[in-house]
Amino acid sequence: MKKKEVNSSRTPVYRDAGFELFDADTTKEAFERENENERIPELYIYSRYRNPTVAAAEEEIMKLEGCKWALLTQSGMSAIDIALSVFQKGALTKPWLFFSEIYGGTISYSESVLKKRRGLEIHSFIPVNEKYDLSEFKKLIEKTKPDIVYIETISNPMLIVADVDGVIDIARRSGSKVIVDNTFATPVLCKPLESGADIVIHSATKYFSGHGNITAGVLCGNDPGLMKASIEYRKLVGHMLSPDDAYRLNTQIKTFELRFREQCANAVRLTTVLREDPRINKIWYPGLPGHPTHKEALKLFGDRGFGAMITFEFDGKNDSERKSRRDNFIKAVSGNIKLIPSLGDPKTILMPVASVWAAKYPRPGMIRLSVGFEDYYYLEKTIRDALKKTG
Ligand code: PLP
Repeated sequence: MKKKEVNSSRTPVYRDAGFELFDADTTKEAFERENENERIPELYIYSRYRNPTVAAAEEEIMKLEGCKWALLTQSGMSAIDIALSVFQKGALTKPWLFFSEIYGGTISYSESVLKKRRGLEIHSFIPVNEKYDLSEFKKLIEKTKPDIVYIETISNPMLIVADVDGVIDIARRSGSKVIVDNTFATPVLCKPLESGADIVIHSATKYFSGHGNITAGVLCGNDPGLMKASIEYRKLVGHMLSPDDAYRLNTQIKTFELRFREQCANAVRLTTVLREDPRINKIWYPGLPGHPTHKEALKLFGDRGFGAMITFEFDGKNDSERKSRRDNFIKAVSGNIKLIPSLGDPKTILMPVASVWAAKYPRPGMIRLSVGFEDYYYLEKTIRDALKKTG
């Protein structure tokens, strides 16, 4: 990267595995400063450590989160692995506390990797009536004295909004560090680092990339010590995002705020249609006054929106009728709304809740929608037409 060869306004895709360092002194300096993240053009060493195309995408995310550093990884799970591993101190690691309503992959990671392989003691904080009680959280934190509190802003699939500011406040007073998975809320709705969270992570596979065609993750923070530890861990386990994916992410993230606002607006409008339908028993959307955590959503998100996920349940005389309505609906929308096990895609996609999360939510009539930014008129028409065919 000596001199730009063309007057491009974009950082190109640098696919170099290793960068040319020219002389022994530069090589020495580059290796000495490899965890500083200074983005000095002459000091890139090796793409598994740092890469200019990846760094350019990280800068976009730093602007979105309003933070001092962001590190991209090859999946949301690898960002979670880094965020949690940098706090481990072998046998000296104290207990941790995880909110129970977090992504299933994170729960499995906690069970299989953190508890079974690494021997960590992890406590779980469970909501009551689809709501976290912060006075109970305070009691549990005083009892367990965790080093780390791990939480998601909006949970899946019941869309429980945690009072993240309240959680951070209680945790910090007890000396615990807080990691927030902000994938569902995104920085458009809230920025937990501004409230004192230590690390915020995202599955960039979802809204940041937003087209269902990139698998990526990111962890963000302000503390320079955590940044250095995270850079080192990312390098050692090889969690770095590829330059090609970083370039595509950097292109797609430019429209993230626009897309997400539209997705939230479409979701709000769709709740009105679902609420009117007599075949639907219940809707979970944090923007609705009847949602158990509507108050928390208003406190945390203000007037910025309530996210683009909706869960609803078909009514019926029994489980078999509810299941049949669900299946008829999935079939009727399938031309426009696909069953895809992800979220944050451009078009609305859905998941039958009981097929994946039956251990917690066995109710066969439930569907989770990830609302897209397609033209609302056609989205509403698809849903209305399908509802008529559910029986
Ligand atoms: N966090 C949340 C909230 C998720 O929903 C997911 C995946 O669905 C992840 C993390 C993991 O992200 P990835 O699939 O990019 O590894």
